[in-house]
Amino acid sequence: MEKYSDYLYAKASHQRIPLGGAFELSPVCNFACKMCYVRKTPAQIRAEGKRQLDWQEWVSLAEQCHKAGTLFLLLTGGEPFLYPHFRELYIQLHKMGFLLSINTNGTLIDEATIAWLKEYAPHRVNITLYGGSEQTYERICGSASGYHRAVAAIRGLKEAGIPVVINASMIPENAGDQEAILQFGKDLGLNVRMATYMFPPSRRETEKTDSRFTPEEAAAMFVHKAKFLQHSQDYVRWLSSQVAEEKVQEGNDWGNHREDYMQCRAGRSSFWISWDGTMTACGIMPFPLQLYPFLEPFADCWNKLTDVVRTTPVLSGCKNCPRRKLCKPCVAMIYTETGTPDQKAPYLCAMAQCAQDMMRKELEVIKCEKAE
Ligand code: SF4
Ligand code: SF4
Repeated sequence: MEKYSDYLYAKASHQRIPLGGAFELSPVCNFACKMCYVRKTPAQIRAEGKRQLDWQEWVSLAEQCHKAGTLFLLLTGGEPFLYPHFRELYIQLHKMGFLLSINTNGTLIDEATIAWLKEYAPHRVNITLYGGSEQTYERICGSASGYHRAVAAIRGLKEAGIPVVINASMIPENAGDQEAILQFGKDLGLNVRMATYMFPPSRRETEKTDSRFTPEEAAAMFVHKAKFLQHSQDYVRWLSSQVAEEKVQEGNDWGNHREDYMQCRAGRSSFWISWDGTMTACGIMPFPLQLYPFLEPFADCWNKLTDVVRTTPVLSGCKNCPRRKLCKPCVAMIYTETGTPDQKAPYLCAMAQCAQDMMRKELEVIKCEKAE
């Protein structure tokens, strides 16, 4: 399915079609996680003089997206199951023929919700698993019982035949649970998408409780994840490919014209609409343009956005970097790290350097072990 959708997204990008979109229905959540990029309380929303959009407003917008060619729609938050009239909205979107995915912490998905979802099959439910124990959930989310509820939701959805993916965001508070999370996914035969790098928040104020690894720790988590997930031979091959010298010359893939613009789906074949009605290319950052599809036609917004994404140069600070293949910087990473789309990001540079050093050492150790 992923391969098939990759193909569709590539075609859509070529034809400037907004094939995939995200509706971020609400910034409100029943958790208060330290690494969240959007969370707000209802009181904060009111204090900003804003409001959550009505479900009928989202339906009207969805009709325009549908006309423009959108097929994949992600419903996210905050916690989307807390959005008032979530079910009414979901059913309406389902009837319109969208392939719906849901990003959720899973804690509000009980047996009745699973039965309901079975009736209106989603394309996928992505459940974020914050740790492997009650203690970790208490530390990160402020809710010990959240752990059992999330695990029960994952198991229940899987048993009901609903496609589930486990998302995991690693920070110092759940570092000790890395293997437990990966093993849980393995045991259930579910894909675990584990982020070992955390963006600094760009859509909310930084808070004292914000938490992320040092570059060295993040690099170690990255390498450890790869080691855990791969068979030893694949791991060695992977290490060798990662540490291979990257030759940088004028006119190669990084110096050429093509790499000077955003290359992911954001703004080329997908869009993000936040809870307050702001449309961007990527949900992590306001760059390169913010539009307001509840105030002007969606198709006009999309045309402006995709034009700007295709013509705004980015990542000039990373040109000629010998660790670019390993670092894989995207504009959102550079933007949230530096506040610009084109400067080198010291955190990322240090992380890439550390990862490379660790991988070289790993290879040395493996070579020595083989020689003995
Ligand atoms: S996070 Fe980076 S790769 Fe992902 S959509 Fe945003 S800009 Fe693209
Ligand atoms: S952030 Fe640093 S390591 Fe990463 S590609 Fe840019 S210059 Fe290279």
